Amino acid sequence: MTVILDGKKLRDELLDGLKGKLSNYVNAPKLVVILVGDNPASKIYVNNKKKTAEKLGINSVILNYPSDISEEELVRKINELNQDMSVNAILVQLPLPQHINKNTIINAISPIKDVDGFTPENSGKLLAGETPYVYPCTPKGILLLLDKYGIEIEGKHVVIVGRSNIVGKPLAVMMLNRNATVTVCHSRTKKLSEITKSADILISAVGRNIISADMVSGGTVVIDVGIYKDENGKTRGDVDFENVATKASYISPVPGGVGPMTIASLMLNTVELFDFQNKRSCD
Ligand code: NDP
Repeated sequence: MTVILDGKKLRDELLDGLKGKLSNYVNAPKLVVILVGDNPASKIYVNNKKKTAEKLGINSVILNYPSDISEEELVRKINELNQDMSVNAILVQLPLPQHINKNTIINAISPIKDVDGFTPENSGKLLAGETPYVYPCTPKGILLLLDKYGIEIEGKHVVIVGRSNIVGKPLAVMMLNRNATVTVCHSRTKKLSEITKSADILISAVGRNIISADMVSGGTVVIDVGIYKDENGKTRGDVDFENVATKASYISPVPGGVGPMTIASLMLNTVELFDFQNKRSCD
């Protein structure tokens, strides 16, 4: 029987635990989310993050800058937040307007406040097999979900479709660090379905309906990261859920799979950074 990987349930469990932990804190951690422009999807994402944070007792502030803010000005704002001792975690909501170089902005964030784990120091630590201050939220959420369901990673062939800096690449490294054999596929990959069929664990992070049942072997663990709206405005993932579910051993739904785990990881990361900074100031 196919098991549905319930990201909402695990998110709720993790956030309940976090809420309990935070109720013993004297000071609340503070997460600052930077939003540039008025992209409607980004607004929804940042508001959801703020709502979740506040339910837990995390102080969350959204700084919304106009879309014509200069790169230099944005770097200046980030530097102020880096210096501000009351701020524990900084998140820059992507995408940014075209005139702003995403890497310049990410690189400006202090690694100890980098709640997404995207700065060169954190991604370098990850690549070197060291422990970063925090792990990127979506890959971290996927591993928490697999671990919760007792799904073995070591020695497994993990196929990741998508090589972005926020999902595919860090996830590949985290899987390698857990002793998986990893194949990363992308838009230039040839014979994609031959590769996906050889997966023990198949993770798709593309953003369109790409994984059909004939691309999946029986018993595969299938993780769907993709989120997009179809022509009827319905939220969809990369995987043909109904048909793939008849073959998979475990499968994550969209919505209700990886999305909630990403938010849970963001909250866990905020508290981890807060704890680290407090410990460091006491040492
Ligand atoms: P990107 O657009 O940055 O990356 C998409 C990846 O898919 C690229 O590596 C691209 O290849 C690859 N790709 C595109 N077409 C094909 C194809 N035909 N065959 C194989 N690979 C292909 O996206 P993100 O990583 O940022 O996000 C991916 C999806 O995951 C989106 O739907 C996004 O909304 C969702 N997402 C969901 C999250 C969650 O919490 N659930 C969090 C983050 C993202 P190439 O590099 O060659 O262009």
